[in-house]
Amino acid sequence: MSSQLVYLNGEYIPLNEAKISVLDRGFIFGDGVYEVIPSYGSKALRFEHHMQRLQNSLDAVRIKNPLSNSQWQIIIDKLIADTDSQDQYIYLHITRGVASRDHQFPNEVEPTVFVMSSVLHTVRPELLKSGVSAITLDDIRWQYCNIKAIALLPNILLRQQAVDKGAIEAILIRNGNITEGAASNVFIVKNGIIKTPPKDNKLLPGITRDLIVEIAKKHNMPIEEISINEHEFLDADEIWLTSSTKEILPVTKINQQTVGKGQPGIVWRDMYQKYQEYKETLRK
Ligand code: PMP
Repeated sequence: MSSQLVYLNGEYIPLNEAKISVLDRGFIFGDGVYEVIPSYGSKALRFEHHMQRLQNSLDAVRIKNPLSNSQWQIIIDKLIADTDSQDQYIYLHITRGVASRDHQFPNEVEPTVFVMSSVLHTVRPELLKSGVSAITLDDIRWQYCNIKAIALLPNILLRQQAVDKGAIEAILIRNGNITEGAASNVFIVKNGIIKTPPKDNKLLPGITRDLIVEIAKKHNMPIEEISINEHEFLDADEIWLTSSTKEILPVTKINQQTVGKGQPGIVWRDMYQKYQEYKETLRK
């Protein structure tokens, strides 16, 4: 673990030697953005989509992208090659850099760039068989949830409340509507129609979310990107959570109540299968 190679500011070094200044604005203010990219068979899934979302996050917080996409690709490929696993996830983190502590942007500071790749463990089969439990909570976060910001204290507090109640995720409600999970997007199925909230500033535009919407459209599965109110949500036949590392998780208990028939649904099964098929194309 500690001898794992990581990238920090232009260098490849062992993880236990990777150090940053305590004045880094990521450490002091949480002033930075990040990405998580899954890779299968040494190939990053939807690399261009992740790079575009990274660019959008950087633009939103006014940090210049320190590297071109081909430079990012070289780093990612090297770290993947150095990690001994077919399936990995790349964590990529950029902060505004090191400066004396002052809220305003410092002049001419170099961003801090950190990248590492870790083994991606597939979700335990028994969880896919039984489904998982989740709870609903008030979305206490800010107004720019579309930015993949490293400042995740609200998300951490929300997730912990779920864990304390024996649930796997907190599903968030703002003004009566579902937004997303603390670290995932949300889908429901009602009468065979798949629904997910539309992309706006209230949720992260998940790469997995977008891929699922694309797969549904390609296979003529009815899908709507539409607001879902709390009542409709709690009355759904199926609830799914999606993310790069968890793929598509069926939720079978919400606030300790059974969802649908209390088992992963048939639409989930179909979509899960199609998602696995898409993943497998990367290994060829
Ligand atoms: N929403 C939030 C708040 C997240 O942190 C994540 C990623 N963990 C997602 C949605 C899912 O995004 P992706 O599919 O790109 O992993």
